[in-house]
Amino acid sequence: MAAVDVERARVEASIRNLKLSGHVGFDSLPDQLVNKSVQNGFVFNILCIGETGLGKSTLMDSLFNTSFESTPSPHNLPTVKLKAHTYELQESNVRLKLTICDTVGYGDQINKEDSFKAVVDYIDAQFEAYLQEELKIKRSLSTYHDSRTHVCLYFICPTGHGLKSIDLVCMKKLDTKVNIIPIIAKADTISKTELQKFKSKIISELGNNGVHVYQFPTDDESVSEINTSMNAHVPFAVVGSTDFVRVGNKMMRARQYPWGTVQVETESHCDFVKLREMLIRTNMEDMREKTHVRHYELYRKKRLEQMGFSDVDAENNQ
Ligand code: GDP
Repeated sequence: MAAVDVERARVEASIRNLKLSGHVGFDSLPDQLVNKSVQNGFVFNILCIGETGLGKSTLMDSLFNTSFESTPSPHNLPTVKLKAHTYELQESNVRLKLTICDTVGYGDQINKEDSFKAVVDYIDAQFEAYLQEELKIKRSLSTYHDSRTHVCLYFICPTGHGLKSIDLVCMKKLDTKVNIIPIIAKADTISKTELQKFKSKIISELGNNGVHVYQFPTDDESVSEINTSMNAHVPFAVVGSTDFVRVGNKMMRARQYPWGTVQVETESHCDFVKLREMLIRTNMEDMREKTHVRHYELYRKKRLEQMGFSDVDAENNQ
């Protein structure tokens, strides 16, 4: 057993279990935690990676049921640029500071070799800013605007032919830095049978190339069933729209074609609702936590080692 484990076992053995003979009140701790979190508000940062025109902005509008200002980007940019916008949203009494970062010009250059570089640099820059705040003598992490990327939605082109090299290379570079959720964009352009084959092809290509995408956590009993079943649906095939049509007495987000209507929020039409459920309603906190304890920790360890720090035990051994 390691020295630390032996020490922990010794301390635990010396702790006595006592019974309370009346109500003391520390059972209100969870409520205190909720109140404090609600007061502070929440931060969530999304990075959308995908070629220009794949429907990134439209999907963001659809997911948050609002209209974020966005200007369509041209296809002739010489390099990839990342543009982040931050918005304050409120639902009931919960405030969310949401940052959406878009990869402008991604995949538009003739030589796409370095497309991922700007993305990697952006993610690292957010980690570095947090690290620098942590290292300050007078740090103020409680008021610091945490800009670390909590999730990367990777938009796959609905070709039906599997992933492009740029997709594999980029996701491979990012999988240790950010939670990646791959999604098939503009899924209304693929037929039902093609979609199943396309999904299987993507999953096998990701596996063969050792790309680790984010798995919805299955260790928490309350969400394990839904998360297990949703993991099997990745990559989600989504449709976005800024238009509404009347269905019964409700206005529904939809895309209208001469041959029919695709309803964004109808589960038999696409996986939009599944994505929203997983991303916003069930696993947002898990992604925030994984970003801090897994991805940021890895970055921090590497940087502190570069700075010459190392851990020592009580006897000053490394
Ligand atoms: P971005 O450049 O990736 O942000 O793409 P936009 O959101 O600006 O969308 C580009 C075009 O694709 C617009 O004309 C959208 O109406 C259209 N579009 C967006 N989402 C979808 C979709 O799910 N299916 C189809 N067929 N078109 C879409």
